[in-house]
Amino acid sequence: MVRAVVCRNAYEGEQADHFELDPKDQFEAQREARRLGVEVIGFFHSHPDCDAYFSATDLKYSWPWYSNVVLSVRNGAVCDAKAFRANDDQTESTSEELKCPKF
Ligand SMILES: [Zn+2]
Repeated sequence: MVRAVVCRNAYEGEQADHFELDPKDQFEAQREARRLGVEVIGFFHSHPDCDAYFSATDLKYSWPWYSNVVLSVRNGAVCDAKAFRANDDQTESTSEELKCPKF
């Protein structure tokens, strides 16, 4: 089973520039995963009208034990996606293979 769950952006500033997963949504997603007997393997967020890259801010707020998928969204449509994983001290990241539908 593969499933993506949408969580709200709880960041109170300009949301196009930053995201913070809503902790309640994140908790519910974790609980639903446990209920279904599946594992949360990562999180995704979008870069509106920008490329799919792992920014310094993304690295700073990432979780090293999860995949971090970044979607490039242009004119409201996903046009690219890439996955990254941070090292343990969140100073560097590496690309991960991402298997998803073609855009
Ligand atoms: Zn980002």
